[in-house]
Amino acid sequence: MGYTDMNEISQFEVACKYRDGKMYCSGGHLYVLEPDNSMATLAVMDDGPIRCPACDGKGYILTPAGEQLIDMIWRHTERRVTDLVHELRPEDGV
Ligand SMILES: [Zn+2]
Repeated sequence: MGYTDMNEISQFEVACKYRDGKMYCSGGHLYVLEPDNSMATLAVMDDGPIRCPACDGKGYILTPAGEQLIDMIWRHTERRVTDLVHELRPEDGV
């Protein structure tokens, strides 16, 4: 039986390492380091935490292999959902 560990996952996605001056990404949100680097505070705007521009708030970035995987899963899922809807509501057609 196989199992998925972090090494396998790292083929498909890597943690976002975005950094710009005093700002850096952690879990998809931007944090700003204090001048003395002792701590960081969550960067917020009026409508909430600022999403990281590099990973778009996700906290990870897909590798090319990851993008292929997601694309494959998406197309597979899309087909299955289409089949399922057709099965449940055949009168609606495709
Ligand atoms: Zn990020």
